[in-house]
Amino acid sequence: MKNKKIVILGSTGSIGRNVLKVAASFPERFTVVGLAAGWNIDLLCQQIEAFSPRLVSVAEKGEALKLKNLLSPASQTEVVWGQAGNEQVASLQEADMVVSAIVGAAGLLPTFAAIRSGKDIALANKETLVMAGRLIMEEVIKQQVRLLPIDSEHSAIAQALEAGRKEDVARIILTASGGPFLDLDQDGLWKVTPDQALHHPNWDMGRKISIDSATLMNKGLEVIEAHWLFDVGLERIEVLVHPQSIVHSLVEFVDGSVVAQLGIPDMRVPISYALSYPERLETGLSRLNLTECSNLSFFKPDITRFPALQTAYKACRAGGCLPAVLNAANEFAVGAFLDGKLKFPEISKVVAETMTRIDYMEDTDIETILKADQLARIEAAEVLRDMEKQAIGAD
Ligand code: NDP
Repeated sequence: MKNKKIVILGSTGSIGRNVLKVAASFPERFTVVGLAAGWNIDLLCQQIEAFSPRLVSVAEKGEALKLKNLLSPASQTEVVWGQAGNEQVASLQEADMVVSAIVGAAGLLPTFAAIRSGKDIALANKETLVMAGRLIMEEVIKQQVRLLPIDSEHSAIAQALEAGRKEDVARIILTASGGPFLDLDQDGLWKVTPDQALHHPNWDMGRKISIDSATLMNKGLEVIEAHWLFDVGLERIEVLVHPQSIVHSLVEFVDGSVVAQLGIPDMRVPISYALSYPERLETGLSRLNLTECSNLSFFKPDITRFPALQTAYKACRAGGCLPAVLNAANEFAVGAFLDGKLKFPEISKVVAETMTRIDYMEDTDIETILKADQLARIEAAEVLRDMEKQAIGAD
């Protein structure tokens, strides 16, 4: 494999740090040419010193000035900022591949810019496909780039799909760990604290996706992601809870064969697969010991306690900008929960209620999708205020 020049959007996050670990292990295969991060300037500075990228972007001008002060005067790295900065890094001329690992809706425009510049994409930012799946996939085809998933479930499906023809796929089965509250009853869910929700049993992830995993919204977002990525109808995408996170997902073919991908729960495995596809890297990570996997279990998710999954199916079925509304309302609600303004079960309520209050909008272009995103955030805040008023009224 020739040396691949990569850009990492979201380099200071959980995925970004793991991508840099993989890149550092294979210096003959990967050169980091660009990084984008938000506000964690100290870590970004260390990353610049270790990898000497040509261009980096940070969230705001103030952070850019801070970073320039921290960098050694001899540093050759150019610093830019804001959405324009993210897009500049994402379209860096010499880059072969862009890793999209900014969290949330902020990842959409830079990912779109990278595709339009003809870069292959290693996609962690599922929100991009949730918000604008149709437009993104059209652009991927138009630019003839590769869109390789980093999400472990989608990486598993992509690998399983290599076992047969697309027209012979009967079902895709996405596995879900079930999160930290799998066995908690409804009363218990009302008492959940942000700290408890942030503590995932199998994966060490960023804050937003950890909460999404706990509500099962993450699985809902992944259903939408799978729908666009693999061009499979929602009626053929199922979710099964698999608390051990060993079977990362499965594909059932029309002859009854089920092909699965298994592995230890470590994001460096799907990251390596996406970075080096179609080759595989000798990661040196611990191997799966099947004799220790005697107790693999699978069952249907409880949609009464975790309604977010069904809400996501509903948004995707309705189409247009509704998935973007779902995503924005969820980002707002997760933030409000982490700030102590919402109870855990209210996250899903805010999302579902916001969806009923926004008029249908066609997903004609990225601008319309971003408008729906903004409207949804405003409306979600209104829903929260209404809930607070009702709570006061009930006292
Ligand atoms: P983290 O919260 O750990 O990291 C988020 C990254 O985005 C950070 O580098 C942060 O910068 C950066 N960021 C946030 N806002 C901006 C902005 N406006 N401009 C530039 N950079 C920004 O998240 P994760 O790494 O966990 O998740 C990233 C994405 O990957 C999400 O979409 C998630 O759903 C997906 N994903 C994550 C998995 C995981 O195991 N963590 C698994 C599968 C998918 P800073 O910290 O400097 O502020």
